Amino acid sequence: MVISMENEERKIPVLYLVVPCYNEEEVVEKSAQVMGDKLRRLMQEGKIKSGSKIMFVNDGSKDNTLRLLHEIAAGDTMYSVVSLAGNYGHQSAILAGMMTAKEHADAVVTIDADLQQDIEALDKFLACYMAGCEVVYGVRNDRHSDGTFKKSSATLYYKLMHLLGSKVIANHADYRLMSRKALEALSEYQETNLFLRGLIPTMGFASDVVYFDVKKREAGHSKYTLAKMMTLAMDGITSMSVTPLRLIAVLGFGVCIFSVVMCIISLLDWIWGNNVPGYTTSLIVSLIMGGITLLSLGIIGEYIGKIYMETKKRPRYIIDTIVWKKSEEQSKND
Ligand code: UDP
Ligand code: MG
Repeated sequence: MVISMENEERKIPVLYLVVPCYNEEEVVEKSAQVMGDKLRRLMQEGKIKSGSKIMFVNDGSKDNTLRLLHEIAAGDTMYSVVSLAGNYGHQSAILAGMMTAKEHADAVVTIDADLQQDIEALDKFLACYMAGCEVVYGVRNDRHSDGTFKKSSATLYYKLMHLLGSKVIANHADYRLMSRKALEALSEYQETNLFLRGLIPTMGFASDVVYFDVKKREAGHSKYTLAKMMTLAMDGITSMSVTPLRLIAVLGFGVCIFSVVMCIISLLDWIWGNNVPGYTTSLIVSLIMGGITLLSLGIIGEYIGKIYMETKKRPRYIIDTIVWKKSEEQSKND
């Protein structure tokens, strides 16, 4: 565990749980109850302050999620709802929640709505925070609750990320505590292509890892479609590393040397009169070259696309409404 110099100054925090929700009508009520119970227990045990809250972020749900969230928030001051104007994706949703929460909380934990991530790990998160950590990463113990495809693709992906030089923490999926100081630092990063798991470790700060068990989804089905997962994986690589571009250069250099050698061999063949009909060779070479060229263009295109989106400087999320029953904030909004 990393102990900071500020250890003695740490006070019991106001904790906010940020919970992104996209079409989670089957599970939000149960989640609100389980998370609420846990927060109340932590307050009783004196581990968090009484103003602590659960902040749901509605990421443009098309089902009854928002209505249910409003009902939950209307009944108890412990719950609040940040509703985004549309579906901005998991990463933007948790960013919106964290940036809203940091104005009121000393520490923020992001956790999925489906109760897959063990809520009991909060005690360990808080212990690390009290020991001086600014960031605490939740890392899953194993992947037994995942299907074979998700398990093997995730393992392969983390290996690839490490090869490409990204500091991403294996098997950490946005179940994370951040102190207000770390969140202030994060707010300085203005990038549109968000890959928080890769970005946050690059900030530095005293940090630690907490292991937790992953459960089966409480209800509903995964909101990470294959397309969303691919986009996140691509964002992860291209927003954290330029190694693929460098690999293209290395590949290009290799192909150049190969062509020079081939030219010399062909010329010598021509001089010596060993001209052979080279249909197969020509076909293979042009197919390989075509493939490499298109692949390289595709990779370069990915980066250009990223640059294009970054230059627009579009907002990463738009908040439609914030609902909470905390008296002073309510009167401010009224
Ligand atoms: N989520 C979101 N916006 C999206 C997709 C997902 O806010 O566009 C939320 C979702 O409601 C959940 C969390 O992100 O709270 C993780 O999604 P999910 O559990 O479906 O992913 P999985 O655990 O299957 O990877
Ligand atoms: Mg899940």
